[in-house]
Amino acid sequence: MPTHAKLDTAAEKRLARQATSDAVRKTAPKLHTVIKYPDPVLAKKGELVTEFTPELAQFVDEMFDSMYAAQGIGLAAPQISVSKQITVIDISFNERPEEKIVLINPEVIARKGKQFEEEGCLSIPEIFEKVQRDSWVKVRAQNVRGEFFEVEGEELLARALLHEIDHLHGILFIDRLSRLKRELVIHRIRKLQKNGEW
Ligand SMILES: [Zn+2]
Repeated sequence: MPTHAKLDTAAEKRLARQATSDAVRKTAPKLHTVIKYPDPVLAKKGELVTEFTPELAQFVDEMFDSMYAAQGIGLAAPQISVSKQITVIDISFNERPEEKIVLINPEVIARKGKQFEEEGCLSIPEIFEKVQRDSWVKVRAQNVRGEFFEVEGEELLARALLHEIDHLHGILFIDRLSRLKRELVIHRIRKLQKNGEW
């Protein structure tokens, strides 16, 4: 049955992610704590990066480790309390190293189409809602050496690019929901906070 097969794959994927996360937790030289909504850093625009030092490259490595440890496919510097225009993405979740993306000072320079799919966020755990996004985007950014490059993405990668670039501008995915949906989500978060589950 297709549904059953799908569930199996999802369960296998979860186990694989858990294993990767555990391995990274054991070996990573430094892991950063991911902060949660409503930490004010998440609502701030990140500063542009102007110095491309070896420390920056090391910080980016720590961001990847922190992202895998937290089982995410994207992480923006403000989520670890560093208010700078740096984000890392890997929709393969450490399966294919060539798919690792580092974006410094990124900008969306072209967009096409629409998609409406579920999103979550490491800073808003356990909450998943459908968000309207462009279905294809082209982004211009700098790498850890300060060189400019362009990256294109569609579907999940487009969502990841847009979600992470939003973080660098102090925008969360719940800010892109309808007013009513957003209020319901915030109400759920307040309840979780009250119960000490946030
Ligand atoms: Zn996020």
